Amino acid sequence: MTDYVVAPPPIAAVPVEGGGLFPVRRIFCVGRNYAAHAREMGADPDREPPFFFAKPADAILTGGRDLPYPPQTESLHFEVELVAAIGAGGAGIAVENALDHVWGYAAGIDMTRRDLQDVAKQMRRPWDLSKGFDHSAPIGTLVPASRIGHPSSGAIELSVDGTMRQSSDLTHMIWSVAETIAHLSASVRLEPGDLIFTGTPEGVGAVSRGQQMEGRIDGVGTVTARMLA
Ligand code: MN
Repeated sequence: MTDYVVAPPPIAAVPVEGGGLFPVRRIFCVGRNYAAHAREMGADPDREPPFFFAKPADAILTGGRDLPYPPQTESLHFEVELVAAIGAGGAGIAVENALDHVWGYAAGIDMTRRDLQDVAKQMRRPWDLSKGFDHSAPIGTLVPASRIGHPSSGAIELSVDGTMRQSSDLTHMIWSVAETIAHLSASVRLEPGDLIFTGTPEGVGAVSRGQQMEGRIDGVGTVTARMLA
């Protein structure tokens, strides 16, 4: 019997294809990793080093569950992203070895309170509450790299109520998964259980109450989430 003074939190986990659960330790996200999306956000995609932000581990939303429309926003945006799940930890990881640290991949959606993010940018404040709110990280089933390899090309798409809103290809990522891991692990020691949302292509937009989102990545799978009415 340990002497926690409140009940310890449950372990957030992502279902794995074929059974089992991947326990989530941290969620890192890459900003502006597709040139056309950087441009639509008013930035210059000049291959500046990647930058990162984070969401709480329990922001994940699995199993295609309903997503309650979050408070404090009138502009909730979708961003479909390839998610890499770290299975072997390390610091200062070299690009050449980086993919050895990836256990598997999933499709995810980096939900964003865009209006709060715009204010944060203007006021030079942190992005935490525009990015890291409850249920802000819908994610599909995780598939092991031992089965699908390491996807570096193929369609990445998101539709809302059956209408295609984002449609690009993984080849348009500015920083590859391996390069992203190398950069991130230069700042923090990565550990098994870490997820990395690797950035979104162009076409981001707002989603309304009652709408259904479906993200899809070739060779990886899908992620669905329905906005509660
Ligand atoms: Mn994003």
